[in-house]
Amino acid sequence: MNRWIPTLLLLVFFNAWGEAETLKVRHDHNPWGKCTGEVIVSESGIEYRTEKKKHSRQWKWVDIQSFDRKSSTAFSILTYQDQKWALGADRSFNFTLLPEQEPLSEETFQFISEHLGKPVVDRMGRRIEAEYQVEVKHLHTFGGCEGTLYFGKDWIVYETDHPKDARTWKRDRDVESVWSLNRYQLEIHVFEENKRAFDKTRRFRFQLKEPLDESYYEQLRREFFPGR
Ligand SMILES: [Zn+2]
Ligand SMILES: [Zn+2]
Repeated sequence: MNRWIPTLLLLVFFNAWGEAETLKVRHDHNPWGKCTGEVIVSESGIEYRTEKKKHSRQWKWVDIQSFDRKSSTAFSILTYQDQKWALGADRSFNFTLLPEQEPLSEETFQFISEHLGKPVVDRMGRRIEAEYQVEVKHLHTFGGCEGTLYFGKDWIVYETDHPKDARTWKRDRDVESVWSLNRYQLEIHVFEENKRAFDKTRRFRFQLKEPLDESYYEQLRREFFPGR
């Protein structure tokens, strides 16, 4: 046998997994408990390797419903797996990086979002060149949080001191539609992880502290409702 063949095979193997990134993580169990292991991001998908065999997983990109960057040190993976005890809600895996692990890099997050090819949840801010910005209050079921909405060519960013609600949306990937009933109100409907039905979008309702610019709203309408 040609002695080069094993070498070639090795090279091919390393190439296919060449872009792999390994993150040391803690898997936070719901509602309590944890296990630790490694999350491996590669061309093929995301794998979770742990001693707790029952929790080891290999997801091909297509098997991942959404990825939620909660912060630079925490993220979750929403799968399509049913959870019987939660009336069929899809199962998500919550991970926190271990203290010795470097934060999740922007490159790794971009790699994930590109390979996933579906909407993601991104709670990290992003500096953008804003075409339009407006001060708002994000309305919750009870009360709300305050911040600023920035509209850029490709992005919409909601910046707030309430980290849970901070968002960076890519306009053509994450946003379904934008609505305004009057100039002091704006709704942004996004494809955000919805454990019961992904096609059911999540609605972010904002009360505007200054009147909405009508011509900018027209531009948004044309983008999200072409032909109307
Ligand atoms: Zn676990
Ligand atoms: Zn809020």
